[in-house]
Amino acid sequence: MAFEGLTSRLQSVFSKLRGKGKVSEDDVNEAMREVRLALLEADVNFKVVKEFIAKVKEKAIGSEVMDSFTPGMVIIDIVNKELTELMGGSQAKLAKSNKPPTVIMMAGLQGAGKTTTSAKLAKLLLKQNHRPLLVAGDIYRPAAIKQLQVLGEQIGVPVFALGDGVNPVEIARQALQHAKDNSNDYLIIDTAGRLHVDEQLMEELRQIHEVTKPDEVLLVVDAMTGQDAVNVAESFHSQLELTGVVLTKLDGDTRGGAALSVKAVTGCPIKFAALGEKIDALEPFHPERMASRILGMGDMLSLIEKAQSNIDTEKAKEMERKMRNAEFTFDDFLEQMDQVKKLGPIDQIMDMIPGMGKVKQLKDVKVDEKQMGRVEAIVHSMTKQEKQNPDMINHNRRKRIALGSGTSVADVNRLIKQFDEMRRMMKQFSDMMGGPKAGKMAK
Ligand code: GDP
Repeated sequence: MAFEGLTSRLQSVFSKLRGKGKVSEDDVNEAMREVRLALLEADVNFKVVKEFIAKVKEKAIGSEVMDSFTPGMVIIDIVNKELTELMGGSQAKLAKSNKPPTVIMMAGLQGAGKTTTSAKLAKLLLKQNHRPLLVAGDIYRPAAIKQLQVLGEQIGVPVFALGDGVNPVEIARQALQHAKDNSNDYLIIDTAGRLHVDEQLMEELRQIHEVTKPDEVLLVVDAMTGQDAVNVAESFHSQLELTGVVLTKLDGDTRGGAALSVKAVTGCPIKFAALGEKIDALEPFHPERMASRILGMGDMLSLIEKAQSNIDTEKAKEMERKMRNAEFTFDDFLEQMDQVKKLGPIDQIMDMIPGMGKVKQLKDVKVDEKQMGRVEAIVHSMTKQEKQNPDMINHNRRKRIALGSGTSVADVNRLIKQFDEMRRMMKQFSDMMGGPKAGKMAK
């Protein structure tokens, strides 16, 4: 995940301050020197770093910090607010035209993720009950049209294409008419990219702009390219008035500099962040939540939103009932794992829970997809009766399950023990809450 290096460096700066009851100006200066280095190392533009540090310092040296009994917390709060400001302050929402369709033109260099992002955005709009139409306007990259058609089919969004023999400007013009005729309220135009910014490409984009008068011109940039992403954004912006940026590949181990610099350098807000190759790995960009993630403070709001849109509430209610009644079986356990997996890669979910980033760094805590896969394999190797009635799983059965799942008896033992503990805790909790079993026992 992006920002890992920056997060751990900032956390170590702040933990030094947190231990202090009072801080001196020297302490603040020393901390700011370290924050400065951490940001530079994360590939944040040096001018941006300079201004950022000056602002934080000005606030931190004020009386608020010096007089506080928890100066560390006050400084974190200042840094949090300034990071949020740096990334745009508040969420920059997608435009909506009151004369549909809202036209969104996607631009960017080849390989930045334009085609993928166009489809992801269409999926996001579809989820919000819109009727998007995708336009295959990249006629130069071999297979770009096919790629968009395959993605469109996968998500159930129509793709307007005229092959690679028609000029993209003409394709865009006809697509706009097609959207109007078919009541599509969003038109997402995938355009051609090049390896570098060149005049011919810009001319084509300008003509598409002229013909479709887009409400949004979103530049897709690859966060992994760091400062280069910011340079690309600057040169596109100077020729094509961008309305927003989409940062892709934030799931990789990018140092994060692009996310922190692009708004400050170009004045263009980041509207979306892409965190994976999967079609639903696109999120609206919230500066305050990103700042919180960078500082290792989690992002519960995004997690709750993800849960609300992905989790089956009926199933969740049924699960809760079973937990209260201590009827929870290994089948339910599998079901629950499936629900969690719907939220996205476990590694990213952990980053959204406050404090979990730290837990992840511990050596003997392994919460990864592989580990989850092993647990699933063990449960799948149990018979139907064993899943419903775990108490019957004796030593011989454990040996058979280990063999069947390609794990060891120790792995099986560990899982059953954890499961027992989980059930015991659920029961205690249910008793405490005055669950149905508690009622019976009280009599
Ligand atoms: P285009 O040339 O700009 O249209 O780029 P594509 O949409 O074809 O994407 C280039 C590559 O980047 C593809 O392999 C995508 O799967 C991958 N990609 C796009 N977005 C992301 C992302 O957010 N994370 C990761 N890991 N890969 C991505």
